[in-house]
Amino acid sequence: MAVHGTIFSAMLQEFDGAARILNLEPGIWKILTRPKRQITVSCPVQMDSGEIEVFTGYRVQYNITLGPAKGGIRFHPDVSLDEVTALAAWMTWKCAVAHIPFGGGKGGVICDPTRMSRRELEALTRRYVAEIIDSIGPDKDVPAPDVNTNEQIMAWIMDTYSMHVGRTETAIVTGKPVILGGSEGRREATGRGVMICTREAATHLNLNLAQATVAIQGFGNVGSVSADLIQELGGRIIAVTDWKGGVYNRAGLDVQQLIAWTAQHHTVDGFPGAEELTNEELYALDVDILIPAALENQITTDNAANIKAKIVVEGANGPTTPEANNILHERGVFVIPDILANSGGVTGSYFEWVQNRHGFYWTETEVVSRLEAKMVEAFHAVLKTSLKYKTDLRTAAYIEAIDRVATVTRMRGMYA
Ligand code: NAD
Repeated sequence: MAVHGTIFSAMLQEFDGAARILNLEPGIWKILTRPKRQITVSCPVQMDSGEIEVFTGYRVQYNITLGPAKGGIRFHPDVSLDEVTALAAWMTWKCAVAHIPFGGGKGGVICDPTRMSRRELEALTRRYVAEIIDSIGPDKDVPAPDVNTNEQIMAWIMDTYSMHVGRTETAIVTGKPVILGGSEGRREATGRGVMICTREAATHLNLNLAQATVAIQGFGNVGSVSADLIQELGGRIIAVTDWKGGVYNRAGLDVQQLIAWTAQHHTVDGFPGAEELTNEELYALDVDILIPAALENQITTDNAANIKAKIVVEGANGPTTPEANNILHERGVFVIPDILANSGGVTGSYFEWVQNRHGFYWTETEVVSRLEAKMVEAFHAVLKTSLKYKTDLRTAAYIEAIDRVATVTRMRGMYA
């Protein structure tokens, strides 16, 4: 059964617009708007205090028509089945847009990792994997990191799965440490994809990136790598916000120094030589390029009309509500949607999975050049579709994705 809450219904709204343009037949429409499999598990963990806590976890395999389910695992107090289902659906469309042979999945555990010890986190991770173990595997469903899960957690997932099957199985999860079968360049892959989309959009719009100003919400993996690589191309990063505060300098922030500051202080707040800035102020800044790279639902009807940027690049998943997206479209803002803009991450994960299965590893230069080729191809395919159907890029990306999954669904036929 599909869940109809806020995030999943936002996904459905995006889907419906594109499906109508494609004249998608009702049967395929029904199939593609329902999750194939939703798993809910209870994970008992003995806490350091000696007490037993039971955590709820989910794994959703939204659609596996194109290949094994692929998608991260999120540890957060606000995780819900609705959110995990929407994120799994977005993974389905993202893999289809990126032309990689995966379906869409996502996992989540309701917990607050900031209040858990390393031992408790390891115990929770291992128990969660044990609870879903029959449903995952290199050919079935391949998890990855998401909010609050990292390389260490991927290593525990790989080890737990390997212990159960009695052999070392690296291809069960991506985003692993390089020494343990991870891929060179995976950590930077999402930010690199954001940079490539930004660069291609700037060229398309005749905007000189070397003179462009950029504002970024979020300075974690996606935000900081995007900032660094766009600055390398000459873009001036003038504002960055994070969970605690924000920094602004019209002359440009030194991204390398800001990364070093954040590593030490866990926030951009207090960075010397910059003024303070709120998220609201960031979204209203007079900049050429705006990159939301933090959370869902950040661009809403409250702030969409204030946005002055010519290009919005969605590093985060679901940062723009459907209503806000319409406002941006009417105002002529060039929005590069999440399922295209941040697809460098899953493409990097795909490269990691391929290397694990071959047992042959590529250099960083090889990974970067393959990612460059894939992202440029995906960007221009979506752009071409948007020009053909006279739509915004989000609708065009959905048209591409739905068309691909629908075509394969028809070809495979109905098993009954
Ligand atoms: P991260 O945890 O490394 O960084 C998140 C950043 O957002 C941090 O700087 C944090 O301080 C900031 N933040 C949190 N709350 C905020 C708030 N209220 N206002 C401003 N900033 C806030 O996470 P990440 O991996 O960079 O992921 C960011 C987004 O990108 C998420 O939506 C994620 O799903 C998406 N994404 C990530 C990847 C990946 O490979 N890491 C791939 C695709 C999509």
